[in-house]
Amino acid sequence: MTSEDTIVALATPPGRGGLGVVRLSGERAIEITTQLVRLPHAVGAIHELPLRTQRATLGEFIEPAPIGSGPDTGRVLDQVVVTCFRRPKSYTGEDVVEIACHGAPVVLAYLVERALAQGARAAEPGEFTLRAFLNGRIDLTQAEAIRDLIEARTLYQAQVAAQQMEGSVSARLKPHKKVLLELIAKLEAGIDFAEDDVSVAGWEEITAELGRISGDLEKLVRGYEYGRLVREGLSLAVVGRPNVGKSSLFNRLLNQDRAIVTAAPGTTRDLVSESAEIGGLPLRFVDTAGIREATDEAEKIGVAKSLEAIADSNLRLLVVDASEPWTEEDAGILSKVQPLGSLVVALNKSDLPQRLAVSDFVGAGFGSTSLTAPSLSRGTPAPRGMVMTSALSGAGIAELKEQILAAAVPARDGGAEGEFITNLRHRQLIQQSLDSLAKARRAAAEHAHHEMLLLDLYDALHALDTLTGTTCADDVLGVIFSTFCVGK
Ligand code: GDP
Repeated sequence: MTSEDTIVALATPPGRGGLGVVRLSGERAIEITTQLVRLPHAVGAIHELPLRTQRATLGEFIEPAPIGSGPDTGRVLDQVVVTCFRRPKSYTGEDVVEIACHGAPVVLAYLVERALAQGARAAEPGEFTLRAFLNGRIDLTQAEAIRDLIEARTLYQAQVAAQQMEGSVSARLKPHKKVLLELIAKLEAGIDFAEDDVSVAGWEEITAELGRISGDLEKLVRGYEYGRLVREGLSLAVVGRPNVGKSSLFNRLLNQDRAIVTAAPGTTRDLVSESAEIGGLPLRFVDTAGIREATDEAEKIGVAKSLEAIADSNLRLLVVDASEPWTEEDAGILSKVQPLGSLVVALNKSDLPQRLAVSDFVGAGFGSTSLTAPSLSRGTPAPRGMVMTSALSGAGIAELKEQILAAAVPARDGGAEGEFITNLRHRQLIQQSLDSLAKARRAAAEHAHHEMLLLDLYDALHALDTLTGTTCADDVLGVIFSTFCVGK
């Protein structure tokens, strides 16, 4: 991969569409385009480059002219719109040309092929964005946010990614980096000119500054708990005995008819893992196929696996049939899932005559009803929410969604979208910086040698620099950009 190459790729998804866009970037992008596309004023004047920057120009994609004839004798394959962005004011910082064709896959593939024949190279995944980064158009957090934006499944995710694309993460870290650099400079001065009368930051000032920075970084680390949910979504395990309405509720939450619902007990297909959205967060349903009492060895393994998946979920939803009495089976399932963490309970089928109500459970907890269930074991967390629902009529579904959000989403430190981080790599590097800051604070408290303190401060700064990509090893870049799609 060299940045001298001019790269080309289809920038829109493969397949038929209204439009398809081929993108080129590099020194020869404009020249190659003029070889492929007949432009209004290009006739006989190819080297005058008829493309004006940031303007769309109508042109014709032509078949190569027969040898010996002029460049404008080829047959027309498509009418295209060419947009040119001259360096450095382009996505990559190089000359960029976007050729918008009608979305015919054969024509688009042929256009790419012709560009390759003219000396362009097929772009690697993420190479356009990598060039934008290498040319200083964006930092690493912004590049990552571009990928997150493309992969967003909810508008809220897109909104958060867009904020980070603007540089919100780097902006948050910038003042801290500045202070660290200033401290380093002062300490270096103190060491280098120890004999001269140079003012060296006092221990107290250093300790106070480091404390302030640590406080803010800790806030960012705490915010990751929420940020991770934003990025990865919320996983919900729906549990309950057969026929209580799990699939029906699941459909209600999805707002569509995905899972198969049948009337005969035990014949319901277990929940398919599907995506929905709740409060802007992608909601994932975790398959809970069977946590009933296992009879044979194979089934036991299955049950253990199910329980593991249920435990790994962000939240559990226990569905109970409120038109029937509380059963041993309900109690058994409850006792299995309750120790696993946050739980919401839906008393479903509220449209039918009720045999169970929320009031049966409040106070002494589940099973205090005179029905059958054994009481809760001590020390298990009380259920965060209980909701009467009817998957049939839709009653209580909105409240159920609220309860799910309330139980699963940690309180957000701060408020605005730029106030939290969503990326694990960022979290790890901030933690690394915090660890070095803690060491530095200890060194300062012990009035250690400035050299010792400096080492820790450099480490703390380096972690933040790696986060934004100011310093970043090539192999790390390779890993990050390989997760992009081709053409981005
Ligand atoms: P699952 O086995 O727990 O997934 O239960 P299903 O979602 O397959 O539902 C079992 C049966 O109960 C189906 O006939 C549903 O139509 C019915 N059902 C589900 N929810 C409700 C509800 O809220 N009210 C009524 N009356 N019937 C429901």
